[in-house]
Amino acid sequence: MTVSSDTVPASHGRGYQMKAGQVAVITNLYGNQVVDTWALGVADAGEFTSMDHTRSVNSSIYFEKGMAVVSNRRRPMMTLIDDSASLRHDTLLCPCNAELYQQLGCDGYHRSCSDNFHEALSEKAEDLPFTPASLNLFMNVPVHADGSLERHAPASKAGDFVALRAEMDLVLVLSACPQDITVINGDDRTPQDVTIRFVTDYPEVSA
Ligand SMILES: [Zn+2]
Repeated sequence: MTVSSDTVPASHGRGYQMKAGQVAVITNLYGNQVVDTWALGVADAGEFTSMDHTRSVNSSIYFEKGMAVVSNRRRPMMTLIDDSASLRHDTLLCPCNAELYQQLGCDGYHRSCSDNFHEALSEKAEDLPFTPASLNLFMNVPVHADGSLERHAPASKAGDFVALRAEMDLVLVLSACPQDITVINGDDRTPQDVTIRFVTDYPEVSA
């Protein structure tokens, strides 16, 4: 059953409370959009998703269906229980921040996933004094045997989705990445909305 749903507007972030066992279905409406993703524990906001620990526990630099995102205390926080495009999601690149856009030549302020993270948390009356590394859903960063990596447009198509199951009570933070200079959000460099649905049973039984 779908409990609630929402839209994460292009280039913005949102925070959501989740109970253990609840599933978040994140849909890439146009297929092009990278979604920077974090979770913080409700019992202790000092516990948060850690890409270092996630790579170590999964013994993989990618994040794929069946894997769990773990915390800085090596506890599972969310499991990727479904992925319509069977992607290799990125765990390596940092969330974009204001300094990156300055270096790319932007005049004035440019929205960023790092700022979106803190903005979304502050709306939940929480925050962290730093920006943890993000799980970069739909981000297409192939890594070669020599250690070099590439940045490509997402391999997903319109309507592709992932389903993340919360393994503890947590605050989920999503950022529809504002990057509009490189092709990381698609060849047309246009950030788009994504949608999120929270369901209590997955897969849902259609009526
Ligand atoms: Zn970003």
